[in-house]
Amino acid sequence: MKKAIVDYHQDEENHWVARLACGHFQHVRHQPPFINRPWVLTPATRAANLGQKLNCIKCDEGAENDFEPI
Ligand SMILES: [Zn+2]
Repeated sequence: MKKAIVDYHQDEENHWVARLACGHFQHVRHQPPFINRPWVLTPATRAANLGQKLNCIKCDEGAENDFEPI
């Protein structure tokens, strides 16, 4: 299910995690060469990607919320 990014935070290992409109977290790592999301590295490009929709597997699985959706 495609869900929009509403915010971000970093996990214990400083990987970026998107907060999705559905109430789930999803890692948006930049780990070349396998995962290339250079846009997560700067505040400006992270902000520009707010509203981008990611496929939320947790929704498809009916997983409980990671946080209370806004
Ligand atoms: Zn979800």
